[in-house]
Amino acid sequence: MSLKGKTALVTGSTSGIGLGIALSLARAGADLILNGFGDASAAVAEVAAFGGKVGHHPADISDVQQIADLFAYAEREFGGVDILVNNAGIQHVAAVEEFPVERWDAIIAINLSAVFHSTRLALPGMRLRGWGRIVNIASVHGQVGSVGKAAYVAAKHGVVGLTKVVGLETATSNVTCNAICPGWVLTPLVQKQIDDRAARGVDPKQAQHDLLAEKQPSLAFVTPAHLGELVLFLCSEAGSQVRGAAWNIDGGWLAQ
Ligand code: NAD
Repeated sequence: MSLKGKTALVTGSTSGIGLGIALSLARAGADLILNGFGDASAAVAEVAAFGGKVGHHPADISDVQQIADLFAYAEREFGGVDILVNNAGIQHVAAVEEFPVERWDAIIAINLSAVFHSTRLALPGMRLRGWGRIVNIASVHGQVGSVGKAAYVAAKHGVVGLTKVVGLETATSNVTCNAICPGWVLTPLVQKQIDDRAARGVDPKQAQHDLLAEKQPSLAFVTPAHLGELVLFLCSEAGSQVRGAAWNIDGGWLAQ
């Protein structure tokens, strides 16, 4: 499959899963707009090695105006967005009655509201050009809960619901919208949760094993490359009738 001539925007693609997905899309020939915090030069160089055009925009997607700026940049520099991967996300773990209100607001803004804003800004161009793919990186936590993750679970369930509505509203077009629901992927977001366990005196290797053993029957991590390949499938002709789905890729987490 070739994505030559298509532009993909992956939010939160300076590290972790977003970078893995950007690499898969670039390998298939797409031009890439990266987004996310920190020094993006290494990520840009890695993605540019596949030969396509690559840009980075540092929009903080908790801010609606900065999302609008990101899409104005995409229009100006790339002629619009054909493939939108809503990936950026944050986590905070605390019991509901101790959950910092500011963390709740930030998680809802980044993990849920930003998906709505980027979708509403991307859709008109996709409809105009007659083709588009929206892939929302939700989570197993879009389908089940875990203690301590009230905001994250609420936001990810919201993303799965939003995906269904956008999937229906685009059902007769060549635009599709789907969610991917990964289990544990070893990225900085998850490493922090392993480090928190280790800080309580558990050996780091044991902490990693315990994290997997609690939820993920395969006892193995999903990788950013696995997720990148699934995004490519959803962009392919074979994926064109997958609509409004919430696709598990979770080492068996949700089969239990
Ligand atoms: P990560 O922390 O490695 O990367 C997050 C990316 O988002 C970074 O590039 C960061 O700069 C960017 N980001 C954070 N806040 C931002 C903001 N306000 N504006 C713009 N960019 C911002 O995390 P990850 O593990 O790669 O997670 C990526 C997505 O996958 C998230 O939506 C997460 O919920 C989801 N997910 C992760 C796992 C896992 O096990 N790691 C499992 C299921 C779902």
